[in-house]
Amino acid sequence: MWCYLSRIHKRINWLANSTTRWPVAYTQAIGGESLRIGCYAWIKKLQQQSMLRWRERLSEEEDFDVIVVGGGPAGLNTAIMCASRHLKVLLLEGNKMGGLLATLYPNKTIPNYPGFPEGIVAIKLVRSWLHHLKSTGVVFKSEMVARVERDLTVTSTRTEYKSHVVVLATGTKPRRLGILHEEEFSRESKGVYYFASHPEEFLGKRVIVVGGGDTAIDATLELLDLASEVTLIHRHEGFRAFDQNVERVRRSGIVNVLPNAELLAMEGNGRVEKVIVKQRGEKLEKQVDAVIIAIGLVPNDQIFSHLPLKTNPQGFLLTDRAQRTNVEGIFAVGDVTNVGLRLITVAAGHGAIASHHIYSFIRRPYWTRETWPTSM
Ligand SMILES: Cc1cc2nc3c(=O)[nH]c(=O)nc-3n(C[C@H](O)[C@H](O)[C@H](O)COP(=O)(O)OP(=O)(O)OC[C@H]3O[C@@H](n4cnc5c(N)ncnc54)[C@H](O)[C@@H]3O)c2cc1C
Repeated sequence: MWCYLSRIHKRINWLANSTTRWPVAYTQAIGGESLRIGCYAWIKKLQQQSMLRWRERLSEEEDFDVIVVGGGPAGLNTAIMCASRHLKVLLLEGNKMGGLLATLYPNKTIPNYPGFPEGIVAIKLVRSWLHHLKSTGVVFKSEMVARVERDLTVTSTRTEYKSHVVVLATGTKPRRLGILHEEEFSRESKGVYYFASHPEEFLGKRVIVVGGGDTAIDATLELLDLASEVTLIHRHEGFRAFDQNVERVRRSGIVNVLPNAELLAMEGNGRVEKVIVKQRGEKLEKQVDAVIIAIGLVPNDQIFSHLPLKTNPQGFLLTDRAQRTNVEGIFAVGDVTNVGLRLITVAAGHGAIASHHIYSFIRRPYWTRETWPTSM
């Protein structure tokens, strides 16, 4: 197969090169300069496509040591650190490289990443990680994984891969409230969001934020200078978020805080226009332009929920101190695990720990005799 592909590739290369050398008089005779340029562009495109397919085929036929599922901070650092130990790594990301930093809060200034005392904008951090990733030997592809099997087969929406180790770095997704119209209005900017990812969208809008943790308070702070009206509703009296941020919200003077309140329903003609809130047994109606639902995160577990992997009651994966799950060959890192603290640095740290033990598991060096734990 390789020989055949390489012959086709060489033939296309020859055609493309010879086209550039076709004498002008000849091409004019058969249709002029525009035909020559058209032919050249078409052949160049064929050449690029065949090269791409050829490269993809090469990496599919390759035997990987490690397949990392998920390109957030945990998956990216696992891949980079495994590659630095000369393991062959495939990284599969189904959405955007960078995980939550790229999808949920690209514009947020991250205050707690070491080396940036003034903070760093999330998407800039992602860019430098990708730059780093490209300088390693990691093969990375934009492919959604559909299923991981116990025998370490990984099936993506395109094809199937095998390796000696699979690392689950699938992170989390925002929890849904599960009320009527939520799904419909959360698609294509119809007024329901899970974070203020693009704060400018809320300029001059009346916004309701639901939740009492860091995500809800962060979202509220993002809106302070933009929205015309912000209402923060929370089921309890106090907030779980960072005290100093809660204080900033309270001191802003423009946020209407409704404690002991729940969002019961959303209504509107094609997009959210009105919400019904219950506070201490009483129902209130409110006209709004947008609702931000920030009530926590749930693990992205669809691809492994059929496996006998141990989890905590909320579905987060249990691992030992080496980031090993209870299924031999499967590691888990970052927010998808039962980690006490969900932070970028912690997720990246998991990658460092996992890569060390992945190396021992695969290469079995003389200085370590690690066995897979039988209980967890
Ligand atoms: C609003 C908000 C603000 C935050 N702010 C901060 C902050 O300021 N500082 C801080 O340290 N932490 C912050 N965090 C926490 C931080 O974002 C997370 O701890 C970190 O992103 C976890 O990284 P991860 O790689 O485990 O998961 P994620 O970042 O969730 O990445 C998981 C990746 O896996 C991919 N994936 C999932 N399923 C599949 C599949 N089947 N196939 C292929 N790919 C898949 C996803 O597309 C995603 O890219 C914040 C979190 C939120 C929600």
